[in-house]
Amino acid sequence: MGSLGYQVEDDLDVVNGHKELPKDYKGLSNGINGIHIRGHVEPTPGRGRPNHFYPITGVYPGVLPKTTGQRPPLKIAIIGGGLAGAAAAGTLSRLPDVDVKVYERSDKVREAGALIGVMVSAMRSLSRMLSPASWERLQYLLYRGDDCEGINHRHWRTGEILTNALSPHTPRHMQEGRISRIALHDLLVRDVPDDVINYSSSVLRVEKNEPSGMRIVFEDGRVEEADLVVAADGLYSKIRRKYLPDGTIAYRGRVSYRQNVPMELVQHIKGLPDDTSSWRRNGEVVFLSKLEPGVYSFVTMASESEEYAKTLEWRHSMGKAGIDRLLEHFKDWDPIINEVVKALPNVEAYPLQSSPWMRDLIRDDAVAFVGDAAHPTAGAYGAGCSFAFSDVRALCLSLWRTHQSSSTTSEASTAPYDVPYALRLYNETRRHFLARVEEQIKLDKLDTAYVAAAGSDEKEWIRRYRERFTINWWILEHDVDAKWQEVEAMERHKDRSQKAIVEAANTIVGD
Ligand SMILES: Cc1cc2nc3c(=O)[nH]c(=O)nc-3n(C[C@H](O)[C@H](O)[C@H](O)COP(=O)(O)OP(=O)(O)OC[C@H]3O[C@@H](n4cnc5c(N)ncnc54)[C@H](O)[C@@H]3O)c2cc1C
Repeated sequence: MGSLGYQVEDDLDVVNGHKELPKDYKGLSNGINGIHIRGHVEPTPGRGRPNHFYPITGVYPGVLPKTTGQRPPLKIAIIGGGLAGAAAAGTLSRLPDVDVKVYERSDKVREAGALIGVMVSAMRSLSRMLSPASWERLQYLLYRGDDCEGINHRHWRTGEILTNALSPHTPRHMQEGRISRIALHDLLVRDVPDDVINYSSSVLRVEKNEPSGMRIVFEDGRVEEADLVVAADGLYSKIRRKYLPDGTIAYRGRVSYRQNVPMELVQHIKGLPDDTSSWRRNGEVVFLSKLEPGVYSFVTMASESEEYAKTLEWRHSMGKAGIDRLLEHFKDWDPIINEVVKALPNVEAYPLQSSPWMRDLIRDDAVAFVGDAAHPTAGAYGAGCSFAFSDVRALCLSLWRTHQSSSTTSEASTAPYDVPYALRLYNETRRHFLARVEEQIKLDKLDTAYVAAAGSDEKEWIRRYRERFTINWWILEHDVDAKWQEVEAMERHKDRSQKAIVEAANTIVGD
């Protein structure tokens, strides 16, 4: 049994730590990920102690027949085919007795976005959701540094490494890595069965159907019905606005300038770090990193006035004007930053916006919100996709838990899933954690303000930075499966009286 959660054939080579790579190693690697699987990988159904309450650890069934009996399948409509929607489509399609459709307003996959951080939390979810082929591909594509671990955090002016972000007890193949949004999206879409994604399908609104389910109304007048709607329509979610019409979307004070370029454009730069580096100063941040093989990424979140940010809303591609603005903005920072900026052919600019996060991620016993539609992060912790994947994983587990196989029920009319109960499990698994994260974003600003208060006293600034800078492991390594198990057990026994619990505790010896 390999560390991937599925069985690895005997002749495969699993190497932990790049120093142990075999001499004849010619296999797939990007910055040497510490794991290489050669040959054929067989998913082994049933690994990970399958049972009715936690059934699918490490199991990746193929696409199941639409129904296992005479009953109609559960119709699941996923609105939005971004990272959250694509992950939901690949994962939920592998549940039994479902008919999954994605409705995406773009006419094709959008070739957009730059660096995405895939945190340890996301790695955990993906290791349980992706097919073996996609998991292996992810290992190949993720960049984790050539000869180093984690992300180096540098002094904004001198480039001195002040601290390093690395998960101390995580093997390298589960460590955080960086990838372009396009490559990550492509990898997720590979796991989606044919004919599931419908492009050019812009959803106008959803309406509750009586007695259950939803109607989906499209911009072009079309109407579809579904038993469950998964709202994955991002920051500007129309579905969220239906339920929370007063929720405002506001500019967060920073613009994300970003550009991925071919490695050839930057590799001549003397002193270009071989790691992933971040330079931080009082709320502003620059990232420089390789991504999947052949791709280099520049990303910054720079403070800009709201007035200026407004001019960028519809003009993302900045050309020379953007480059010149960045050169001026970063003229006092570590010179390597401007060396990279000078080599960029273009830069894209996105004002970072957000809205209050949803307190509850479910509505009408038939709608589940996932990803930015529920909790737009505006770049916080680089964890947007990590939260989205945890949502999807929790939703999938919750549905699975309520599945009634046709062999266990004689009634042809019995619905294959108890959607309201599944949604309750889902909401309880996610809402407390997400509310705490939203609070932490505010708390972290207190520390940023404390460091900034050192002003131009550089020595004191560094002292305060080292004192307060911390990685929120409880966020970045959150294990959604563990949380789901905790919630599921409580929900299952929640109607038991205290008397019954005390009686059981007194009669049953041991655990
Ligand atoms: C074009 C783009 C580029 C991005 N680039 C970066 C980046 O470089 N770095 C980074 O950290 N994050 C980036 N993000 C954000 C990142 O993808 C999210 O923060 C996060 O991963 C959660 O993804 P999501 O699927 O919830 O939302 P999104 O990725 O925003 O996806 C939402 C999807 O829903 C679709 N949609 C919206 N409304 C409707 C509707 N009414 N009907 C049907 N479909 C609809 C959208 O077209 C989109 O495909 C980008 C997002 C987008 C859309």
